[in-house]
Amino acid sequence: TNALEIRGLTKTYDNGFVALKGIDLTVKKGDFFALLGPNGAGKSTTLGIVSALVNKTAGQVQVCGLDQATQPEEVKKKLGVVPQEFNFNTFEKVWDILMQQAGYYGMPRAQAKQNVEKYLRQLELWDKRDVQGRMLSGGMKRRLMIARALLHEPELLILDEPTAGVDIEIRRTMWEFLKRINAEGTTIILTTHYLEEAESLCRNIAIINRGEIIANTTVKALLRQM
Ligand code: ADP
Ligand code: ADP
Repeated sequence: TNALEIRGLTKTYDNGFVALKGIDLTVKKGDFFALLGPNGAGKSTTLGIVSALVNKTAGQVQVCGLDQATQPEEVKKKLGVVPQEFNFNTFEKVWDILMQQAGYYGMPRAQAKQNVEKYLRQLELWDKRDVQGRMLSGGMKRRLMIARALLHEPELLILDEPTAGVDIEIRRTMWEFLKRINAEGTTIILTTHYLEEAESLCRNIAIINRGEIIANTTVKALLRQM
């Protein structure tokens, strides 16, 4: 089975705007996949549908062989999502933000504490565990969202513009971290509008424009054409 299988996915927003015009996309297990495209192309809409934050109009979405429409609870366990905007309660402490998320995944408390510590350390946030979210820098907030998405050790990690607004130094550290967890077996899909990011991280790439997939190839082949 593939990590992600999208068939004929269509999205028409309530105002009548057609954001996705029947896209097909396959991401194999273990892949590091980029969804690249200009602003407004439909990247966030696609990932929003995969992560059940946005309702689709038509089409099929399977995550690790599970149908997202009929098996949402099973899909939730397979999936970790890092949205573009910071969406945690910034007045909560870092430790509590992660413990609440572990509760949301129904993780037993001992396991939750163990995983919270593990990912806080891996993302170099352990020293910040008793600090309120609002006190963190942009890069730290982004890392907190990655830790939160990994707590339940999903098979597929989806990141929407993970390094937007992050300075180059921190961007490289994040890249190294993502490469490592991919090497350890987590399938990763990210959206980006930086070709450089796709180039340094990803094996396969799809380019989306105006709600249509206009290329779907390896990063190497794409770069050869340019
Ligand atoms: P990207 O992530 O590639 O920048 P999006 O998926 O966010 O693109 O948006 C695709 C298109 O859908 C854009 O033209 C955007 O304006 C439109 N869009 C996004 N959300 C809504 C919405 N809630 N209602 C109407 N149009 C929307
Ligand atoms: P309770 O289980 O009564 O809700 P707490 O959540 O306050 O208790 O903490 C219980 C244990 O969880 C602590 O003894 C400690 O091991 C761990 N813990 C709680 N907060 C932190 C933190 N900020 N950093 C590290 N460990 C913590």
